[in-house]
Amino acid sequence: MSEKKFLEKLNELDRKAVEKFREYLRIPSVHPDVDYEPCVAFLKKYGEELELPVNVYYVHEKKPTVVFTWTGKEPNLKSILLNGHMDVVPVFENKWTHKPFDADIDEHGDIYARGTQDMKSTSVQYLEAIRRLKKDGVVPKRTVYVTFAPDEEIGVLGFREFVKTEAFRKMNVGFCVDEGDPSPRNSYIVYYGEKSSWEFIVHCPGQPGHASHMPTNTAGEKARVIMDKFSDLRRAELRKLKENTSLNIWDVTSVNLTKMRGGVQSNVIPEEFCLTYDIRISPTTNSKKFESMIEDWCKEAGEGVWIEYEEKEEQRPMTRLENNAYWDVMRRVAKDFNVPLEPQISLGASDSRFVVEINIPVLSFSPIRNTTYLVHNHDERISIDAFLDGIRFMHKIIPAFADVNE
Ligand SMILES: [Zn+2]
Repeated sequence: MSEKKFLEKLNELDRKAVEKFREYLRIPSVHPDVDYEPCVAFLKKYGEELELPVNVYYVHEKKPTVVFTWTGKEPNLKSILLNGHMDVVPVFENKWTHKPFDADIDEHGDIYARGTQDMKSTSVQYLEAIRRLKKDGVVPKRTVYVTFAPDEEIGVLGFREFVKTEAFRKMNVGFCVDEGDPSPRNSYIVYYGEKSSWEFIVHCPGQPGHASHMPTNTAGEKARVIMDKFSDLRRAELRKLKENTSLNIWDVTSVNLTKMRGGVQSNVIPEEFCLTYDIRISPTTNSKKFESMIEDWCKEAGEGVWIEYEEKEEQRPMTRLENNAYWDVMRRVAKDFNVPLEPQISLGASDSRFVVEINIPVLSFSPIRNTTYLVHNHDERISIDAFLDGIRFMHKIIPAFADVNE
């Protein structure tokens, strides 16, 4: 009932946008084993509607990447890429107050579905902005591509592989926009880099024996050195935050001891203690130096101490904001649009890393504000107003990006 009330209030273009969005949300492109073909069919039809050519590339038989092309006036210039992904993470349906693939609208005008925030919203915001621009008769200077990648949430056969293809090379991308996160404030969050995540176990072996004796070379004494070193680093990073209030959590390296294992019995000196750490390295830290520092700590701790890596992400370059024509344009457009921007380093990882790695600048943002953060959470939702607001912003920023003089 409430649904009708909200839809009737909208003008034709806005109503169309909400309907396309809900249609996309109703496709359960959910892990594991996503069937992408319904998404491909939906997007092909969408392309026909917008009169934009749509190409589908398969890096693997079940992993399509869908590419929309809006050809610019000067197609030889480097192009603009608006990237997104088709997959969504699993749901615990019994924790939802609305069915997660029905795209219901509640009495407050909120649309409920998996993908409303991450990130079917932003993909449709790109396309609906282009629908409006085409209607206005706008032709961009640079060619604009909109891509729909598979498997972003598991990061294996998706965009990582597509960027290595000839098809991608031919797109001649000069700048990329990717997903960010919704902002609970009246602002847009813009990521220009990502932390790299390291998870590892420090193995501290030692001489076992009866605990009534005091042998040298024990696991406990080695573990103590390791814990001191990492705790000192943790305190130093916290001190940086305290002493310089302009710094944020993403500017420092986070250090946390997350697991401790070892020992069999109170009166037996164990043969090993294992300490697990989760470390998120700030993009300004040299990860090679960081690695040799912790290797030195292991040597200092004593004989046989070694590190078993569970995760060790490569350090990623950041997108420079100084002397970045795209960032300058974004700031100007945001000012006109009256939305504050919050440039940040992301604590998580997205497909943007594969683009940054091949030296293409990326600004990652989802034009969604005044929205409670529910990415990967139960009852993921977005208000109709927040969704439409983002289209209006994209309507301003896409041609501005496409017209940048580099
Ligand atoms: Zn996402």
